[in-house]
Amino acid sequence: MARWLGLFIVLALAGGIAWRASLPPSPQSATIAADAFSAGRAMADVRVIAARPHPTGSAANTDVRAALTARLRAHGFSVRTQAVFLPPRAVKRLAAWGDPDARFRQAVSLIAVRPGRNPALPAVALMAHYDSVAGSPGAGDDAAGVAAALEIARAIPASAQARDLVILFTDAEELGLVGARAIFAAPPQDDPIAARIGVLINLETRGGGGRALMFETSRDAGNLIRLYRDAVPTPATTALAVKIYELLPNSTDFTASKARGIAGYNFAFTGGAALYHSPLATPDAIDAGSLQHMGDQALALARPLLAVSALPAPAPDLAYGDILGLTTLAYAPAWGWLIVAAIAACLVSAGRARRDWRGARVAGAMLDGVVAAAAVAVLAYLGNLLSGADGKTNYYDRLAALPRLEVMALIAAAAGITLTLALAPRHRSRWDGWLGLAALNLLLLVALQIALPVGAPVLAWPLLPAALAMAVAARSPRTGSLLAGAAAVFGLAAVATLGHLVLLSVGIATPGAIAVFAPLALLLAWPLLPEKPTRRPLLSAVALLCGVQAGLALWVRLDPLAPSVAAYDPLA
Ligand SMILES: [Zn+2]
Repeated sequence: MARWLGLFIVLALAGGIAWRASLPPSPQSATIAADAFSAGRAMADVRVIAARPHPTGSAANTDVRAALTARLRAHGFSVRTQAVFLPPRAVKRLAAWGDPDARFRQAVSLIAVRPGRNPALPAVALMAHYDSVAGSPGAGDDAAGVAAALEIARAIPASAQARDLVILFTDAEELGLVGARAIFAAPPQDDPIAARIGVLINLETRGGGGRALMFETSRDAGNLIRLYRDAVPTPATTALAVKIYELLPNSTDFTASKARGIAGYNFAFTGGAALYHSPLATPDAIDAGSLQHMGDQALALARPLLAVSALPAPAPDLAYGDILGLTTLAYAPAWGWLIVAAIAACLVSAGRARRDWRGARVAGAMLDGVVAAAAVAVLAYLGNLLSGADGKTNYYDRLAALPRLEVMALIAAAAGITLTLALAPRHRSRWDGWLGLAALNLLLLVALQIALPVGAPVLAWPLLPAALAMAVAARSPRTGSLLAGAAAVFGLAAVATLGHLVLLSVGIATPGAIAVFAPLALLLAWPLLPEKPTRRPLLSAVALLCGVQAGLALWVRLDPLAPSVAAYDPLA
């Protein structure tokens, strides 16, 4: 019983830390220091921009453009417009939104420049789109990004600029990046602005809350990442997310600047997913803390970029990630092999210190880790089907259900791992299991270090303390189990934070993706579990968890269409 209690304390601590690490900072009031980013100040702009829906071509869109032009001029920018007609696909989308004059509409982007001391230097650009979809005030998407850019321009005085500051407020992003593509596709003789930009920061949202993730960079971003590591005090990024995002079909305005080869960072907050393109995405509904987090990070980057005489040069990518939102680690990917070697040394050391393990049983325990992953994947898949994924779904209704879908995925993870424990052969010793699970995770880490070395920290960082604890426990059980508890708190918090990120990006279609964390979670929890738990209560727990999951799934399936779904997509 004491062991179960210990496990629950560790799980509660890890959950609490992960929860804290997934929250944005508090918004700063409008009265804080003038050189700081204040979401309180920026929200005043959000209220102007997101007073009502303002899709491309609408009167509200024209009003927003006029207001932004005035704001930019007040901050010392010279402002011009770039207007282009919409391509056929954009016309089609706008017409589907109910605009009878769609084919006569133009995307009218704002191009604003505030000169620095040396206009010959490559400029730094902030970019956000000022159009919304039809029927949504768009306070998150992307009034928040636009307002953040204005607040950054206010916080950095022109006198601190060694180089020009460019602000691009694009139009018709929601119709297929029309404004941004026009800016970055233009040959230099027609429109020289794209050719003048050295580093660009894009500010986006998909939802109305959560931490603002730095989720995409230009290629060869080694030096950009070094700057991010050194300058950003409240980081949220991981190289693995950046690499996975590259494989997804999603796009933002940054897609256009990246295709042109311009260096830069892409930020977005994706929590509060129900507010994506939603009629409920009003200024009062979005989390000002998310805006604060995006602004804090972008200001921390823009300030040094504007001040230095030489911008970061292209450099090979690094392995990097934030640690529970507190700090960023970044290093050349090859250093990851040192971590692999250290973990292997811990494993060998523990194996030599103990005699109570057998090779065949260790191999069986490695298989347990694989079984756990498969069980989690299958249970998450089945739960998702039951929740309605087997039929016609409304994308926005599914986004609104995401918190429940996340809880379901968490329950599937707990049920899958518990089932594995119940099915594991009884003759295995604690050390058969511990060594086997550690060896499996080491193998996975080696595979990751070979296939995607920049993403290896995701596994390497939680695994290293767990392996150290194991090596200590092999000689000094008492100290070892304390260390194992600490490693589990840290590791499970890191896994939960990452799992939340994974579910925010792919949770409505493939929540089973979190199964990749199952072998690591099982290893972290292993030393805290009773040595040979009785089978029957474990199976009862699995049944109970599956029942709760099924109940949640039916709730998602049977509840009415969420009031937050996009106005143009009510019955899809
Ligand atoms: Zn957007």
